[in-house]
Parts: sequence; C-alpha cells; structure tokens
Amino acid sequence: MVRVLVVIPTLSDVKRSGLFTLCFVALQKKIQDMKIGLDLDNCITAYPSFFRVFTEAMKKAGHKIYIITNREPGTEEQIKTELKEIGISFDHVKITAKKAQYILAEGIEFYADDVDEYFLELPPSVAVFKIREPGNFCFRDRKWCYSDRTGKKI
Ligand SMILES: [Mg+2]
Repeated sequence: MVRVLVVIPTLSDVKRSGLFTLCFVALQKKIQDMKIGLDLDNCITAYPSFFRVFTEAMKKAGHKIYIITNREPGTEEQIKTELKEIGISFDHVKITAKKAQYILAEGIEFYADDVDEYFLELPPSVAVFKIREPGNFCFRDRKWCYSDRTGKKI
C-alpha cells in the first residue's frame, strides 16, 4: 500500500518562506483572497518583468494587488497609465507617505518595498519582501546599505 503525505502550508509557513512559495501556494488556491501590497519606484520598476508575471498570476488566482507609493499626491491617473504601459495588473493605487498605516488599515498581509523605513512599523503578521536595488545594496562591496535607524550589526 502506498501512502501519500500531503502537506498544506499554513499562512505563517508561507510568510516565512518567501515570494516563490507564496506564488506556488496562491496559484494552487490554498490561500484565498490575499491582499498583496507592492511599492512602485525601485521595486516594481526595478524588476518589471517579474512583477508583470507575478501580478497577473495573483490577480488570476483571485488575489488583490495594492500599489502603494509615495509619489506626488494627485498623480493616481498618471500612475495607473504607467502601470498599464508596463503590464502590471492591479486593483488599487494609493499615494501615501504613511504606508504602514495604510497597509494595516486595509488588512494587507504581504508587502514588498525597497526602503527599510516603510517596514519598521509593520507587525510580524505582515510578511515583508525587500527588493534589492542599487539604492539599498552596494553591489561593489556586496553589502546592504542601512542607517542606525533601520539596521544593526550582528
Ligand atoms: Mg520604492
């Protein structure tokens, strides 16, 4: 007799294991109705091909995509046009400097950004994904860039 063990990850398992697991699990629809927040500049714009595929797959699986940016207030329509031009699927665009406040108010569970400061006020229940780009990582020295406020040496 052959026994097959099926492991269904919990939400906390997914939050610990990263974007690829998130994609895999979400595509299998073991998690429903996720709210996913994505920064725009130096996040989506740093890896547009990945985010094009990612957002399309998440939308098709029934999840909501929130674009959260600190761009100039009142430029939502311009941002939506830009997102469509680069092929990003989304449900909401929010311009705010208080990203953590918005993320918590909307119940967003996963958030990707390139700026550490936006992660600081988020509780452990929100999984964060830091996008590496030249503004937060020194490729020459192969080291992360951080301030005393955002990082500590271990
Ligand atoms: Mg950014």
